Amino acid sequence: MQSILDNREALRAEVEKVAEVAGYLWQKGWAERNGGNITVNITEFADREMEALPAVSGPKPIGTTLPMLKGCWFYCKGTQKRMRDLSRDPMAAGSIIRILPDCAHYEIVADKPVEPTSELPSHLSVHNYLLSKGSPYRASLHTHPIELVALTHSRKWLEKDAATRMLWSMIPETKAFCPRGLGMVPYMLPSSVELAEATLRSLDEDYDVVMWEKHGVFAVDTDIMSAFDQVDVLNKAAQIYISARNMGFEPEGMTEASMKELSDVFGLPK
Ligand SMILES: [Zn+2]
Repeated sequence: MQSILDNREALRAEVEKVAEVAGYLWQKGWAERNGGNITVNITEFADREMEALPAVSGPKPIGTTLPMLKGCWFYCKGTQKRMRDLSRDPMAAGSIIRILPDCAHYEIVADKPVEPTSELPSHLSVHNYLLSKGSPYRASLHTHPIELVALTHSRKWLEKDAATRMLWSMIPETKAFCPRGLGMVPYMLPSSVELAEATLRSLDEDYDVVMWEKHGVFAVDTDIMSAFDQVDVLNKAAQIYISARNMGFEPEGMTEASMKELSDVFGLPK
């Protein structure tokens, strides 16, 4: 079967990156059933011939108007699709859509009429926000990292930046590779407008990774691999904390002075 990825090596590489990350999410146990979402702005990989391709669906409403997305293209995980299936066949468990000129509708262009995730309006709102800020970030990821979610079952870690400071202090790489820390959003109904708005506010407070209490994380970065890396680094730190607690003691953590030194030497933003 022909694919939109045929003879488009850069686009294919970007979609294969999504498939690779989807496999990691499943292997890590962060993507039970159809859990999690991925949306990638692939506009930079779209060419003029793609614009002429017929849609495989009729126009569908986004549910909101997103003016920055004019002419944009996205790869989206499909609704009810599993990450472990996406890892084997990204164009059967996801689709490529283009935003119509009214910025309020989209159509599926390839390869199959796989309906995008029900989280599409909130993911697209984030991409609209990123473009409006001039951000180079093009990928958004939602997943359920076990240890990070477990942390949010304690009030202590829901305080602003309490989890950030603890996670950064477990191993120096955490601050180096997740330098903006972990935003915290209190529990809200999944898929709700309130949750989407609170996530945007947290991203706007200068976090790349936002924790949804008792649910999961939402991360953004330049591409899907980098978004995954930030979550992976944070969850590793949470695992180290838990390992120490399992050994029967509260981990000491790096000192404030050591963490400040990291920021000074590596030019970190916080
Ligand atoms: Zn979820």
